[in-house]
Amino acid sequence: MAGEVEKLQELVEKYDNIVFFGGAGVSTESGIPDFRSQDGLYHQKYDYPPETILSHTFFMRKPEEFFKFYRDKMLCDTAKPNAAHLKLAELEQAGKLKAVITQNIDNLHQMAGSKKVLELHGSVHRNYCMKCHRFYGFAHMKASTGVPRCECGGIIKPDVVLYEEGLDNQTINEAVKAISEAQVLIIGGTSLAVYPAAGLIDYFRGEHLVVINKSPTPRDSYADLLIQEPIGQVFSQIHC
Ligand SMILES: [Zn+2]
Repeated sequence: MAGEVEKLQELVEKYDNIVFFGGAGVSTESGIPDFRSQDGLYHQKYDYPPETILSHTFFMRKPEEFFKFYRDKMLCDTAKPNAAHLKLAELEQAGKLKAVITQNIDNLHQMAGSKKVLELHGSVHRNYCMKCHRFYGFAHMKASTGVPRCECGGIIKPDVVLYEEGLDNQTINEAVKAISEAQVLIIGGTSLAVYPAAGLIDYFRGEHLVVINKSPTPRDSYADLLIQEPIGQVFSQIHC
């Protein structure tokens, strides 16, 4: 076990109010592309750049194009939780971890067994009729064609925070509370480039800030433990 991972193991053993804040890097090891990496969604060929397609304006103006992209690129039904997801669920079960705060929309933390998951950017597993608010699941969206419509005729909108849209207030408040009360905050698989999500880190007042990310992040200098390795690999070495 490398020295850094050993230090993480010590923190896990010593503390029981740990919060995890994660991003796309947590899911890439499960086969979900990172929007912002070189080989990620943002660099795939499409008629429009993904950040345009995934905006509120585009959704309203060209829903047909939006849903074509959404079904093709966002609704991945083959991804499975990796060692990081599974270990975080185990840590929660062991009473060590109080919350997972994620920027991902893929449901992998819940699939791994985590109960307290704060999804800052929503989830592709929740979709609602814009007219009557009826709920539709992942499979319904995956099987749909064109612009998916509710029985009432309304368009079914994914419960995913699009560009130009605000984050859910209750989710933010819960995330702020969890971070501000945590003894240990583990930031993992995120370059902390996306605001306002990344700004939540400022609420941490605890004892140890851990950053696990393959590439440098703006918070590396604040971390008292920095591990620049794939997150699944790191968590696979941790024991509850
Ligand atoms: Zn409806």
